[in-house]
Amino acid sequence: MKAVVYHGHEDMRLESVADPGIEADTDVLLRVERSAICGSDLHLWHGTEFPEDGFVVGHEFLGTVEDVGPSVHGIKKGDRVLACCTTGCGRCASCRRGTYSGCPVTTKDFTAQNVFGFSNGLWGGQAEAVRVPYADANCVKVPSSLSDDEVLFLTDILPTGYMAADLAKVGPGDTVVVFGCGPVGTFAQMSAMVRGAAKVIAVDLDGGRLERAAARGCVTINSSQESPIEQVMAQTDGMGADVAIEAVGKPELVTQAAMVTRPGGAVSVVGVILEPFQIEWSLFFGKNLSLHTGLVSPQQYIPVLLPLIEQGRLQPAEIISHRLPLDEAVKGYEIFANHAEDVLKVVLTP
Ligand SMILES: [Zn+2]
Ligand SMILES: [Zn+2]
Repeated sequence: MKAVVYHGHEDMRLESVADPGIEADTDVLLRVERSAICGSDLHLWHGTEFPEDGFVVGHEFLGTVEDVGPSVHGIKKGDRVLACCTTGCGRCASCRRGTYSGCPVTTKDFTAQNVFGFSNGLWGGQAEAVRVPYADANCVKVPSSLSDDEVLFLTDILPTGYMAADLAKVGPGDTVVVFGCGPVGTFAQMSAMVRGAAKVIAVDLDGGRLERAAARGCVTINSSQESPIEQVMAQTDGMGADVAIEAVGKPELVTQAAMVTRPGGAVSVVGVILEPFQIEWSLFFGKNLSLHTGLVSPQQYIPVLLPLIEQGRLQPAEIISHRLPLDEAVKGYEIFANHAEDVLKVVLTP
């Protein structure tokens, strides 16, 4: 089959690889109908050190079930399903508490080996087909009333954005600052609004992305032209926001998030930061701030988010800026990595 394969720094290739198949009784085989390129795939592209290469990438995908292992009970051949980006066994204590991302059966030492498309242990879905382990725990059937575009982002980035708001307990009347207007930042903004935030302040460097944020009702701050700290203080009578969300993945923005949050407020960090970094702990201590972070378990949030999409209260497909055939996936990576063509999200179709 055709698939996008990681070979190192700025080296993704469309290749012909061995067809996947059922390996364990709890697997299903999915014929992929849509996949997407994620900001975290760009960590591979930009050459953050990964110990392996030669694996199929992609952790945001959906498709039709083509083959089913004998121990799968909730999914059958022909079902249209999405796969959660982080896979759990569904039965251990961690999965039963909702933290599939920390499942000790599917990953070791919290190294994210249970995420599709980052190692040879679990090939991804930027491909014509993909094997999904523990399918009963990790596949979700898609209602026929919803299109592929409307549900694709339930695989990762919509639950990630929602998790940022949920961990920080965003509620009615809150003022929420979101650093970043990329796909995850956009979904954090939408999630804050759907949870009742009174004011959502969006910070970014990109004028086009800020315009999109303003169109969905955010107050915007262009941090290339003005200080986010001064502007948030001016917007909040000098008090600071109830919650700040970091959705970019830059250590200095974690500090800025703490600086713009009111005493007793909360900071959520969902931007991916893979290196150790220093934190202004005195800010968190001195202002009684809580700090939240983590790798998403979509399984936990899909039951909340799917009805909101069905009722039109969340419209995740609006972030799609580019649609390409799988054959042109490498071009999609180049566009996304270079912030070309006002790109926000690239969707691939085999
Ligand atoms: Zn992703
Ligand atoms: Zn588990």
